[in-house]
Amino acid sequence: HEPVATVEPQSNNRRLVLFPLPFQGHINPMLQLANILHTKGFKIIIIHTDFNSPNQSNYPQFTFVSISAGLSKSKDGSLNLDTSNYVINFLNKSCIEPFTVCMAKLLELEPVTCLISDAIWHFTQSVADSLKLKRIVLRTSSMSCIPVYAAFVLGEKSYFKTTIKEELELMTEKDIEEIHKDRSEKGNKELILYVSFGSIAQMSEAEFSDMAWGLANSKQRFLWVVRPGSIYGSQWLESLPKGFMEEVGERGRIVKWAPQQEVLAHQAIGCFWTHNGWNSTLESICEGVPMICSPCSYDQPINARYVTDVWKIGAMLDEEMNWEQTGIAIKKVITGKEGSEMRQRSKSLQEKVNKSMQKGGSAYQSLENLVDYILSI
Ligand code: UDP
Repeated sequence: HEPVATVEPQSNNRRLVLFPLPFQGHINPMLQLANILHTKGFKIIIIHTDFNSPNQSNYPQFTFVSISAGLSKSKDGSLNLDTSNYVINFLNKSCIEPFTVCMAKLLELEPVTCLISDAIWHFTQSVADSLKLKRIVLRTSSMSCIPVYAAFVLGEKSYFKTTIKEELELMTEKDIEEIHKDRSEKGNKELILYVSFGSIAQMSEAEFSDMAWGLANSKQRFLWVVRPGSIYGSQWLESLPKGFMEEVGERGRIVKWAPQQEVLAHQAIGCFWTHNGWNSTLESICEGVPMICSPCSYDQPINARYVTDVWKIGAMLDEEMNWEQTGIAIKKVITGKEGSEMRQRSKSLQEKVNKSMQKGGSAYQSLENLVDYILSI
């Protein structure tokens, strides 16, 4: 008897539809996943909203389809949005119809193997069900947030109760191995602090002013991203304290946006003052850069707790700190013994992450499993 021929499922004629949430911290990981799946032979269609559309010129290999987000612009062309939570709730209603119509049209043309949507697009499961389409969600925050949220929301009923208890105990462990390798003063002088609070966070004028004086007081060189509109009541730098620029002189640069991953990969970067969005945290780890943590909301306090208390590759800035104390804390991470130890640990964590992405590593294997799963649909 001839064995029954098994036909290997071919990925190169399979189409996947990906639907990112329109915020930078959600668009970036979705497009990175799209890139990986494209190298595995899948055809990629990105459905995106006309609000915060991704830059298509960087991705000629994908097909982009735009749907209306239903957000109207004010006279000066800017969108009047109170908070990102408000926008997310709004979009989860306004996008139902355009997304459903768009998906149905795509299905009329050619089969689609599955939909990969951001987990925060809550409405997409019922659309996928109605079109008899499999849906996979991409969560863009860290895994540890799932048990933490579940413990908060469900309390005693939470399935994850024990896990979170163990994790919190882990966070207060003080017995991590001390790695001590002094860096020369000369080396430290070359390092720059990179400062950015992601693509959404906003702050008051007083917080902005404290940040500025903290930076000035640290006496370190810095590159600071201040997004236009990120300080309440200001277009851009109007609320920068008087005398700040004169004080820092050539030591500091302020920009509206920076190619963050490239900046973090630069050898001159000695530390990242971050709000600990999950992408920023991962990007810093991938480049072996220690962090100064100022978490704002969402998953950021959890990420910052891991950075400071579990991996010990960063220092938490206390909300109570005045700008003088902030300046001292920054200086310590860049030039102090504690900072150089953090830098050593960051480098060894970076190596672990790199290994996990190589053949046989955990991240590599997870992606292989994902591809196998999609091919089995
Ligand atoms: N980002 C960037 N340049 C900037 C600020 C942010 O490229 O000047 C990118 C950053 O690399 C990251 C994303 O925007 O990939 C921000 O995502 P994160 O999860 O850190 O924070 P969020 O914006 O969601 O609060």
